[in-house]
Amino acid sequence: MAVKRKLKIKKKNFAIFLICNFVVIFLIVFTIHFVIKGINSFTSNKKKKVPTVVVEKKKKDQTKDLNKDKNSEKLKLLGNINQKVDFFKMDYLDRYIEYKNNNKDLDNEQIILNVNMGIDQPYYTNTKETEYLNTTYLLVNKYHSLPSDYVPNNLQTINSKYSIGGMKLVDEARKAFENMAEDALKEKLHIIAMSSYRSYEYQVNLYNKYEKQDGKDAADTYSARAGFSEHQSGLCLDVYDGEIPYTSFEKTNEFNWMQKNAYKYGFILRFPKDKTNETGYKYESWHYRYVGEEIAKYIHDNNISFEEYYARFIEGKK
Ligand SMILES: [Zn+2]
Repeated sequence: MAVKRKLKIKKKNFAIFLICNFVVIFLIVFTIHFVIKGINSFTSNKKKKVPTVVVEKKKKDQTKDLNKDKNSEKLKLLGNINQKVDFFKMDYLDRYIEYKNNNKDLDNEQIILNVNMGIDQPYYTNTKETEYLNTTYLLVNKYHSLPSDYVPNNLQTINSKYSIGGMKLVDEARKAFENMAEDALKEKLHIIAMSSYRSYEYQVNLYNKYEKQDGKDAADTYSARAGFSEHQSGLCLDVYDGEIPYTSFEKTNEFNWMQKNAYKYGFILRFPKDKTNETGYKYESWHYRYVGEEIAKYIHDNNISFEEYYARFIEGKK
């Protein structure tokens, strides 16, 4: 019995010893934790650190506000035109302002249109590959190029009755052209295609020839650089009356007939006399572009260039 009791006491003491040790260790850890925390808060009080994210956000908000103020100043200079036309592009705001400074006689809507058309910058600068390949509202000009390997879908040969051998157009344009030429023929007028689809390689050679002959600056006024020729789209053609040179097409009855009727078949005179600034080309009485009846009618009725139509209704609606 006495041995058992002794053993019980020993166990009891051992347990008390363990508990005491735990308590002591706990107190030590607890004290160290608070001492470190105290030192930390003391040093951080000296230099109160704000998280970087908050600082960045604040900075961003301030620049945003500043830009907002600057932008609203610029928009005021443009008569808040952004609220009036849907083709206004905020990304071009600085270009609008610069262009307006250099063209004070133009109204604000024209400023927006011209910059959207790209004509605030020299031809062949700021160029981009064109969108809407294989559609009738595809735009090719001195700012919009076609890929060098682009060959339009569904090219078909024009009936030799209305063309000088082997000329091709995109089928929809071909049909429209043949209908137009057929109707003109009923009035004894000959509208003959003399150049239509031209490949990229063809244009390389053609432009090089002109460049050699007249120099780059002159060649640029009447010939397109490869990739920038509308003829590669398969949607346009040069015509003549089958007799006098195409450059004199303007003097023919065929030309007068086309002035009145081409739009009804979906064709527009692509480089009119009063639009050279927008199209980038000298007047060409012989070059017609198929855009479809609806667009052709709008362009005809409103006497605008295809560039303007595109800036207002195609690019502008994006
Ligand atoms: Zn042409």
